[in-house]
Amino acid sequence: MKKIIILVLTCVITIVVSACGNMNKEVKKDVSSNNKLKIYTTAFAFQSFTEQIGGKYVDVASIYPPGADLHSFEPTQKEMVNIAKGDLFIYSNNEMDPVAKKIASSINNSHLKLPVAEGISSKEILESHEHEHEHEHEDETHSHEAGSEDPHVWLDPVLNKKFAKVIKDDLVKKDPSHKAYYEKNYKTLRGDLEHIDQEMKHITKHAKRDKVIISHDSIGYLAHRYGFEQEGVSGMNNEEPSQRDLMDIVHQIDDTKQPYVLYEQNISSKVTDVIQKESHTTPLSFHNMASLSKAEANQNNISYQTLMQQNIKSLDKALNE
Ligand SMILES: [Zn+2]
Ligand SMILES: [Zn+2]
Repeated sequence: MKKIIILVLTCVITIVVSACGNMNKEVKKDVSSNNKLKIYTTAFAFQSFTEQIGGKYVDVASIYPPGADLHSFEPTQKEMVNIAKGDLFIYSNNEMDPVAKKIASSINNSHLKLPVAEGISSKEILESHEHEHEHEHEDETHSHEAGSEDPHVWLDPVLNKKFAKVIKDDLVKKDPSHKAYYEKNYKTLRGDLEHIDQEMKHITKHAKRDKVIISHDSIGYLAHRYGFEQEGVSGMNNEEPSQRDLMDIVHQIDDTKQPYVLYEQNISSKVTDVIQKESHTTPLSFHNMASLSKAEANQNNISYQTLMQQNIKSLDKALNE
């Protein structure tokens, strides 16, 4: 009897140990253009970098549906299961993105998730601050699960060089046989990011204005990097301002003689409509690259770089014209 118990115990221990060992094993896959790495990302910008570096060996999708606002996005149980079945889940970090944190915690194997902003020095990370306008909750069912750090980290080309390297290194680890291919693609992307950094420096160096008005506080990292201020009509987590705050903003905009307001592709509400109607400003478009619109999602020539070129034109106008 004793022998049987020991035997059973040994089996149980063996199973537990091997299961645990398996949990953190790097899954080696024979990657080819017919057997691609299936990768999920949060923001479109991360998707774009991964597509450019991984090229023909990756199949990348953002977890956000077209036009989604990440501040109200919640994955379904089925979507969570799907993401966990992929070869990799790429996101910023737990502090910036509580929804991604939840998804990541459902993935046991640490090799299958990549928080690209984890290794970034805290000096480079912006705290998430409550927006100075108070806001009313007209819709009591809405809830924001906001993190302690500003989530819009993927707009800054300097930080993006670091994120791109983290992604490249991980692809090389998962698929060492195509190392040269990933390195070459990464080098091209890095050059583009450096170019965008130069252009941003160029338009901000002797800027006529030091403030930009935007539909919500999404350009904190760009503002911080290149020395200007953002004034969001809605806050960092896209909370809607009250009617009174809204009229204050309209007056403030007109008082400062700001000629332009930047409107983002996935932020549209009665708030931005009011600003557009009531203030004496000209609208400019800005792409925050959290998600693509439906129309954009069907095009295959859209990247961080192409969208950033448009953004730089708008920022240049808002700061200098
Ligand atoms: Zn946002
Ligand atoms: Zn709110």
